[in-house]
Amino acid sequence: MAVTARTSGSADLAWCQALLDAVVTVQQQLEAGARHSESINLILGESLTLTQCSAGMIANVSGGEPCRLTDIVPAGRQREDMLADFDRLARRALRRESFVVDQDSGMVALLLGLGKSVYGVLVLAGRPVAWTNDTIKSMAPFTSSSAAVLRQFQEDLSAPQVDAVFDHLADGILTANADGKVESMNAAAEQMFGYNVDEVVGNSARMLLPEPYASRHDEYLKQYRETGEASIVGSGRELDGRRKDGTVFPLDVSVSQIEIQGRETFVIVARDITEHKVQQHLVELERANSQTLELLVRIDALTGIANRRHFDEALNNEMRRASREGKTVALILCDVDFFKAFNDRYGHIAGDKALSSVAKAIDSCFQRAGEVAARYGGEEFGVVVPGADIESAAALAEKVQEKVNALSIPHGTSRVADHITLSIGVATAIPGTHFDATRLVEEADRALYRAKGTGRNRICLAGRGLQRALPLTRG
Ligand code: GH3
Ligand code: MG
Ligand code: MG
Repeated sequence: MAVTARTSGSADLAWCQALLDAVVTVQQQLEAGARHSESINLILGESLTLTQCSAGMIANVSGGEPCRLTDIVPAGRQREDMLADFDRLARRALRRESFVVDQDSGMVALLLGLGKSVYGVLVLAGRPVAWTNDTIKSMAPFTSSSAAVLRQFQEDLSAPQVDAVFDHLADGILTANADGKVESMNAAAEQMFGYNVDEVVGNSARMLLPEPYASRHDEYLKQYRETGEASIVGSGRELDGRRKDGTVFPLDVSVSQIEIQGRETFVIVARDITEHKVQQHLVELERANSQTLELLVRIDALTGIANRRHFDEALNNEMRRASREGKTVALILCDVDFFKAFNDRYGHIAGDKALSSVAKAIDSCFQRAGEVAARYGGEEFGVVVPGADIESAAALAEKVQEKVNALSIPHGTSRVADHITLSIGVATAIPGTHFDATRLVEEADRALYRAKGTGRNRICLAGRGLQRALPLTRG
């Protein structure tokens, strides 16, 4: 068969040559009696080479709807999204009855038609040649020879050798009549579902589906009988299949509706996506694990509140933000009084329990965004309070002290109370005074040291010599 390609003056020679080569390859393949499934895969392969694209899809068109026959889209996280985009673009091209170029994504959908009839849609993506009207027009010989293959493919669906054609496709293909009874099934579908074709043909396709899909299948059929609307038609639907041995597996299913010898027939293309789902699951698991890990490295194992690492990060972040926005940051440092003596008297395990209760009591006072209460180390706790001035930070420190007192954890060897108490140092970084995190910690630490030195169970504020002490209950 002679082939001539008309190209515009602007199209370069290499492009014309590649185009002609592709047309000739497809035609030679057909004339050599190649199976249509192979030709369809070949068309896609040639299209990608021709256009230097990296991904593509060919859809059959039935009842104005695109139904994916084959695709070259890399497996991975974006596969489903990409196929959904392809499908959308194919639908747009069919609605507009013209090619569609999506400049943003660099995708193009070309109609594969002969005369007024459209047999398929070719969607390409990647790094394409410049998609101008001229480039697309110059592809006409290629797209129409591809359309011829698809027309043949559709006609062959009604030919007696249907099984021979289908048996060489990697995807499972079944045909079913308007009552949902399976009429044919290719080798890939036999293998996928674990049935011999004779065990399925003549039975309802629902036998290949677990619940709730089996019931949905019945609803689709009922609706089709009542309204004539075949809402089952469409591509890229994910559902579960059921094998003969009862095991369930994930499927990607496309259904198209065609007329075979005057009878409505549904063509079902099914792909086992177990591997894809396993990959997806692994990726999700990995993500969840890394989130858990991320959380774990920021939490203190004994008390369950933030750890020193989280504290340092929060303090540095808040200091930076404060200097940008001209706001204050307060730091409250708390230290349990006579805790060594507590351990000596009650034991280390009781000491751990007491620390955990104190930590939770402190943490419960700070629920606002940005506030972080952390175990600073040993029996010391640090709290970052963004936006607080010295007075409001002092008020928060009093609240902490009250909460810890209210725990009333007996401490018979404390020299300042009969229960566990805290000494607290408070400091505030004032913007514009070259305060950095280290300086703020030093100031709070000095105030804490003063609280210890002047009797414990009290709050001292940095730079003020100011003290606040709760009435001592003992000593
Ligand atoms: P002060 O009032 O001056 O703070 O006296 P103190 O005994 O609390 O201070 P010191 O620094 O002498 O001792 C701190 C004690 O805290 C010693 C250590 O055994 C105890 N400690 C630190 N971390 C833990 C912990 O994780 N569990 C328990 N049970 N004890 C801890
Ligand atoms: Mg200490
Ligand atoms: Mg202490």
